[in-house]
Amino acid sequence: MGIIKSIGILTSGGDAPGMNAAIRSVTRSAIYNGLKVFGIYRGYKGLVTDEIVEFKSQNVSNIIQMGGTILKTARCKEFTTPEGRAQAFENMKRHGIDALVVIGGDGSLTGARIFAQEYDIPCIGLPGTIDNDLYGTDTTIGYDTALNTILDAVDKIRDTATSHERLFFVEVMGRDAGFLALNGAIAAGAEAAIIPEFSTEVDQLEEFIEHGFRKSKSSSIVLVAESELTGGAMHYAERVKNEYPQYDVRVTILGHLQRGGRPTAHDRIIASRMGVASIQALLEGQRNVMIGIENNKIVYVPFTKAIKNDKPIDKELVSVLHELSI
Ligand code: ADP
Repeated sequence: MGIIKSIGILTSGGDAPGMNAAIRSVTRSAIYNGLKVFGIYRGYKGLVTDEIVEFKSQNVSNIIQMGGTILKTARCKEFTTPEGRAQAFENMKRHGIDALVVIGGDGSLTGARIFAQEYDIPCIGLPGTIDNDLYGTDTTIGYDTALNTILDAVDKIRDTATSHERLFFVEVMGRDAGFLALNGAIAAGAEAAIIPEFSTEVDQLEEFIEHGFRKSKSSSIVLVAESELTGGAMHYAERVKNEYPQYDVRVTILGHLQRGGRPTAHDRIIASRMGVASIQALLEGQRNVMIGIENNKIVYVPFTKAIKNDKPIDKELVSVLHELSI
């Protein structure tokens, strides 16, 4: 692979607030460093179907504050086949694109890793997902905004939970990761979080009921991470209705509102830093790494590490929630 003169950028998989800030940063940093930039629409789909447009600095004006992604995002079956990836490679070559910056979650980075292995294309990943489930970075782009959205919602739910003396199970996103549920619970002052990381260790509902609700509280809010492992908020509401019929139980599933909205300052800043770092990485000859931020420093995380390793939940956070919910 020779000198990189031109890059393509795409957003893929689930959208996350801050993706636009990342697109802006990658585009502007590339142009600043003398590279040509192509925006690829609808993730890998646009790479396969040739929805590729050259971007100038103005193409990314006034987007840093917007949720979603101006490049659109999609899931693309064709890209999971060798034929689809061959088509994608052909389109890249036709436009003279030498390298890719992929913004997305672990599925998108898996696609990038496979593509980079098959063809000699440097790929850099940016962690764009509200779930915060990528290893090697303290937070992912979109996570902080989603956390704040959850906080707003739970603050409102608490008003009715308190007034009616109810037990609320609030289901939040996270796929198989409990970061949103656990940190959302701490920030909202909720009584407990039910997270997939501990689903096989203890009966989290029993623990919560024993710990506090039955003794001292007339209303409670429990955040439940959506996951097949936990069974979600409905599952716990049903259990309480059966096992503890004295409680007035309600369920709120926050759903897709968690993905939207203006990105927080934190998400805009990390997206901007990671975007600049992605171009720096390419210029240094890095390839097939995800850009992360650990202890406030930019790090390069090999795709295989970022995708395969489970990011552990900090037990200190569990203790904090536990102690403060008496
Ligand atoms: P996320 O990036 O949010 O985890 P997905 O898991 O839906 O989202 O992945 C997004 C896209 O990445 C998929 O639609 C597909 O095009 C591509 N992708 C995911 N896994 C693979 C794979 N094993 N091989 C090739 N492409 C993949």
